[in-house]
Amino acid sequence: MCYSLVYTRRGSALRDLKKGDDMPALEQRSILIKSGELASDGLLHSQVFTPQERLQRALKMWGLLWLLALASVPIIVAHWVLVPGFFLAGPIWAYKRYRTPSVPDHVSGRCPMKSEEISVALEASDRLPMWTHCPVCNASLQFVEREQSTVS
Ligand SMILES: [Zn+2]
Repeated sequence: MCYSLVYTRRGSALRDLKKGDDMPALEQRSILIKSGELASDGLLHSQVFTPQERLQRALKMWGLLWLLALASVPIIVAHWVLVPGFFLAGPIWAYKRYRTPSVPDHVSGRCPMKSEEISVALEASDRLPMWTHCPVCNASLQFVEREQSTVS
């Protein structure tokens, strides 16, 4: 009786998951692409994680760091630092990852210089405002939040 209850709950949870896309959801936010005095509209695409995905990502990071701690055991002298370092980093980084609701994926839009279509891949650690170069004409670009620039 109890078992079947758990089972049906699981079933509905699975169905809820299936409602969304199989891929992590991409959220879009309007930003500005600046180059000197020129500016154009851009879209910041971020990967948004469900609570389950956040937990999975956190556990993966934890597991990886503890594997590294284990792998550091045979390294002479350095293991006095590496083993406890990776051991402590496991839960800390896992917690940080769990608290991360989304990570930036890429920015798409038009280059303000020659208005060509561009798409710039972002690192998970990238935060706005950030500076980069146009992948087409190599002009220096700045990605900024919209709120900041509409204040004036
Ligand atoms: Zn360009």
